[in-house]
Amino acid sequence: MKRSPAIRAEVAADMSLLALASFDKTLAEHGRAPLRALRIDTLQVNVGKLCNQTCTHCHVDAGPARTEIMTRETMDAVLDVLRRYPELRTVDITGGAPEMNPHFEHLVEQSRAWDRHVMDRSNLTVFSVRDKHHLPKFLADHHVEVVASLPCYLAENVDQQRGKGVYGRSIEALQQLNALGYGEEGTGLVLNLVHNPLGPKLPPPQAGLEADYRDELAKRFGIRFNHLYTITNMPISRFLDDLHRSGQYEAYIEKLMTSFNPGSVDGLMCRNLISVNWDGRLSDCDFNQMLDLPVDGAAPQTIREFDLALLARRRVVTGMHCYGCTAGTGSSCGGAIA
Ligand code: SF4
Ligand code: SF4
Repeated sequence: MKRSPAIRAEVAADMSLLALASFDKTLAEHGRAPLRALRIDTLQVNVGKLCNQTCTHCHVDAGPARTEIMTRETMDAVLDVLRRYPELRTVDITGGAPEMNPHFEHLVEQSRAWDRHVMDRSNLTVFSVRDKHHLPKFLADHHVEVVASLPCYLAENVDQQRGKGVYGRSIEALQQLNALGYGEEGTGLVLNLVHNPLGPKLPPPQAGLEADYRDELAKRFGIRFNHLYTITNMPISRFLDDLHRSGQYEAYIEKLMTSFNPGSVDGLMCRNLISVNWDGRLSDCDFNQMLDLPVDGAAPQTIREFDLALLARRRVVTGMHCYGCTAGTGSSCGGAIA
């Protein structure tokens, strides 16, 4: 049974309270508390929850009916921050399907004009949506790194998690990107793939799985890519609902907790990025954003109040879900950490 937003918020709050007692305690036991940012070199911009898919594991609860989307005014405030702080070298654009925001191309163009590295976290199938067919060429022309979701190299697993027909459309999109030079040495056009497990288990070792993806995708479709990132499913939103529905919540949390790896703490993404919500509020990461956890109260709260020096030394707001980032080899936007 699907829980109401109110119950989901309650669960999130419970998780956060629990975590104050346990995740921070675990960090302290390893001499790593409190968790603080080290610097900010990446501005992660979530341009909205609108998406052409409704994947079962989605931590954003994104879909075609979502109306939360970054306005041009908020995006201009984001761009103003980029203009003011050249230290923010990378703009990491996410969603939803970020390309469905009508101002997506404006954000890319302006960021590239200021020589920032731009990443587009794409679901690939958006390229076959009406009015979006030009996007692969647009991304190539602007030298945007594409970070593309492909949870498996087998059709049945992808379609089970992401929807019927998604695998075939994803493969077509990857072939289009390859034809433009993505994933090919010497072009500078970077194509990275993202794997997340099908259910409540940790991802397998990244290097071995990357080799399997490379072999299988080359053999079946002639597809090339640069790297594979393995990402742990976070106990948030739809995946959390699913864990509760299937009675696997406790077992999964226990697995994440008992797999805590202190070697992952230095590489946690909250230590070098800041995440901007579609409405301009700031969080330590996209996961905290989805749990409505703002940055620490002593730091500026919105993009309009952005102060790099204050935010770069903020204390990170943690929660039970943080065990998802520190389990096993660790998990971040750039895959395994340790
Ligand atoms: S996981 Fe990505 S593609 Fe799937 S619904 Fe969420 S935002 Fe959309
Ligand atoms: S979820 Fe991960 S990235 Fe976010 S605050 Fe927790 S440890 Fe940091």
